[in-house]
Amino acid sequence: MTVTASSPYPLRPELVHYPHPILRRRASAVTVFDDALRAFCREMFLVMELHQGVGLAAPQVAVGKRIFVTDHLRRRDDPSPKDRRVWINPRIERPEGLTTYEEGCLSFPGVYAKVQRHNRFTFVAQDEWGVERKLDLDVDSGEFLGIVVQHELDHLDGKVFVELLTVAQLTLVRKRLRELEVDYKKSTGNIGAVLRK
Ligand SMILES: [Zn+2]
Repeated sequence: MTVTASSPYPLRPELVHYPHPILRRRASAVTVFDDALRAFCREMFLVMELHQGVGLAAPQVAVGKRIFVTDHLRRRDDPSPKDRRVWINPRIERPEGLTTYEEGCLSFPGVYAKVQRHNRFTFVAQDEWGVERKLDLDVDSGEFLGIVVQHELDHLDGKVFVELLTVAQLTLVRKRLRELEVDYKKSTGNIGAVLRK
């Protein structure tokens, strides 16, 4: 008798939209750095590039693991990979100052809003081989990557950028959120994890 260990990673991950409940759950740490993890990271880049994103977190493809990928230098008019990076078990150290930036999210197509983020901080994460790296980031000095990693780290904690909006900002995007809620109910038969504010 043989026992096959099941992989936590789907072979062909697919993007999920709000209000899929996995977007509101805290993801768990990665402890095994194997070929299955690295294959999943490669698939995440393909999903991110297909949907023209600059960042994608594992919960956005329905995987509750602390992994995200970025390519903050990709552009709509030239979608080839520019600076692919994998971030695993990431954390922020020594945050200083605040800044605001207009963000969008592949899980909330058509929703854009300005949100407040840390300005300077040290970002610590492992790569797909388990090697830990530290990177100092300063958003106001032009490091857009500093916005992307904060947005994606929130996904790993089950937080979505719409939760950071003021009541006035929410009023502006409410119609689009309702449309996404209706689409989700139609395709799954479930209500999902609807935001209430
Ligand atoms: Zn997002």
